[in-house]
Amino acid sequence: MGAENSHELGTIEVAVGPMFADKTGWLGIKVAKHLHFKNPALIVTHILEAKRAGVKTLKSRNGLLLPCENASSADEIYNLMLARKIFDRTSKPRTLAIDEMQFFDTKLALLAVEAQRNGIRVFAAGLDQYFNEEFCPTSAAMMAVATSIEKLASGCDVCGLDSATRTQMLIDGQPAPYNSPKVAVGDKNPLKNSKVTYGARCLNHHIVPGKPNFK
Ligand SMILES: [Zn+2]
Repeated sequence: MGAENSHELGTIEVAVGPMFADKTGWLGIKVAKHLHFKNPALIVTHILEAKRAGVKTLKSRNGLLLPCENASSADEIYNLMLARKIFDRTSKPRTLAIDEMQFFDTKLALLAVEAQRNGIRVFAAGLDQYFNEEFCPTSAAMMAVATSIEKLASGCDVCGLDSATRTQMLIDGQPAPYNSPKVAVGDKNPLKNSKVTYGARCLNHHIVPGKPNFK
């Protein structure tokens, strides 16, 4: 699948933000009009998300439900794209939508560029930071190759202002310390015996005990 300059390029549109910023709703709006054309389209979310939303369902907090595929790696998404003929240039538009991109390996950015070279419109959404403000490597890689980026915010649980850019993690009701597990879902969840909840917070109200600051 080599690049040929005469071909029309696709795009890579990325949206990032904390939990509760309705990133999945953004993805659904972007992809819905392409589904209307009945042309090749693939919506993928990570298999870890199947626990919350159900297998092969993309579910946003604003009520959107779309059928999707579940995958656990960039290679698996590539194989799904081949099976759906997403690389077949005889039809367009061809669309790839990826939710929860932070759960995938960083090879996802290479796949997105390969798709762009092949004229595919790529939409991807996910967390930009974990609860402790460490950045999510795959989302960072996707932002690096993106043709456009939207930063989404939520409402802060504490002050209510629409500027929550951070995810607040609570373990048994208390702010999660800096070194807590970053991914607390799935069968290997080390916090499965604790009650883990999340919220969205502005920078003023985001609490991470033990987090190193610049000074
Ligand atoms: Zn606040």
